[in-house]
Amino acid sequence: MNFADTEVILSILKSQGYSISNTPEEANVILLNTCSVRDNAEQRIHGRLGNLKKIKEKNPETVIGLVGCMAERLREELIEQKKMIDLVVGPDEYRRISEYIDKAFDGGKGIGVRLSRTETYDDIIPYREDGLAAWISVMRGCDKFCTFCVVPFTRGRERSRNLESITTEIKQLSKRGFKEVSLLGQNVNSYDDNGRDFADLLAAAAKVDRTIRIRFTTSHPQDLSDKLLYTIAENQNICNYIHLPVQSGSNRALELMNRSYTIEHYLDIIDKARKIIPGVSFSTDIIAGFPTETDEDHKMTLEVMMRVRYDGAYMFKYSPRDGTKAAKMKDDVPEQTKIKRLNEIIDLQQKISFEVNQELIGGEEIILIEGTSRKSDEFLAGKTDTNKVVIIPNKNGLKRGDYVSCKIIRATSATLFGDEVKLVELNGKEIAQTA
Ligand code: SAH
Ligand code: SF4
Repeated sequence: MNFADTEVILSILKSQGYSISNTPEEANVILLNTCSVRDNAEQRIHGRLGNLKKIKEKNPETVIGLVGCMAERLREELIEQKKMIDLVVGPDEYRRISEYIDKAFDGGKGIGVRLSRTETYDDIIPYREDGLAAWISVMRGCDKFCTFCVVPFTRGRERSRNLESITTEIKQLSKRGFKEVSLLGQNVNSYDDNGRDFADLLAAAAKVDRTIRIRFTTSHPQDLSDKLLYTIAENQNICNYIHLPVQSGSNRALELMNRSYTIEHYLDIIDKARKIIPGVSFSTDIIAGFPTETDEDHKMTLEVMMRVRYDGAYMFKYSPRDGTKAAKMKDDVPEQTKIKRLNEIIDLQQKISFEVNQELIGGEEIILIEGTSRKSDEFLAGKTDTNKVVIIPNKNGLKRGDYVSCKIIRATSATLFGDEVKLVELNGKEIAQTA
């Protein structure tokens, strides 16, 4: 989401005459787009600011600004504490960012933080380098108020973008040769453009160019509809991949988190999705050590992981965020216990990912080639529509942006290895090779 926002900021600044410099040392303005969702995201920003200090000392004229959620959350406090910061601008005020930069150039401090109920940046075409994959924010903010989460406070109320503004953006991406579009929102399932829901948006997005893969994130389990599942099943270019954060396997913890679903409801969705979309893969988010979490609760989380057998997971240690309801609860799970539980969750997921990937050996996968493998030019790397990385031999003139089918010959927990590569269309239909 922050990458997508950065592209909005770049677009706004470019239209006002700014250009992108190659290194921070050459820049007149350095903006850090920040995340507040977990404490370690904020700690990393403090680290980055430490690195930029030298640049500021050498050239005090350089304007250094924080944008994004940390700017919204900490506002003047940041400016007061960190003398090197010249401006703080929250996620809803990027249209006016150059005014705050000007203020900083004039020796003042640019503080432009204000959440809006309506800003969606509909009319701003994000600045994107040519490439294969693009993000499109389809909504902003969140109304769910999960008790651990700072997002509703830093990003404000939920609002959806106009459907046509999104399909227009996809049309432009199609003309430029993009092959993958990810639709982003904190809870895409509550997308609502005057009665048109997220399934309608997905179907419209998929129709723009059938050679473009459509991905989306994040789905809140409470609002995932059957209509959405059927839409994924019916459109070949909508990826068979659902990120469905569970957070915990314990109904008691889910209630304290205000997640508004039970594990039974969650597992029903998983079963239903697997029936409607054969081969669908799932990933999830899990929090270890939420206030009052017992060994029993933790065991229930491990059990859900074994029951669902996620293809992947993002796993976090709970950190209290100021202003949230959970921050008022006693953070009573000792640090060592949190770490131990998180490690158990990570180890289990690694084992499950390994097993799930082993089961794919011998089968065929269709992948979109993204470029050469990080380790060697002799191999290409691509992704399946279930979001798995596949490494294949680099031969027969294959290139970035090609869809190929391949036979899986080996797998680790993170990567598949394929051979017997054939050039195909997105739907798997073979294309006669001219090379
Ligand atoms: N909108 C998405 C989540 C966005 S935040 C959803 O509802 O699923 C991404 C993930 O960060 C969350 O799913 C959660 O697992 C984690 N997270 C959020 N706040 C956290 C906190 N205070 N401590 C630890 N993890 C947190
Ligand atoms: Fe945060 Fe919950 Fe909204 Fe996700 S749904 S952004 S976790 S409040």
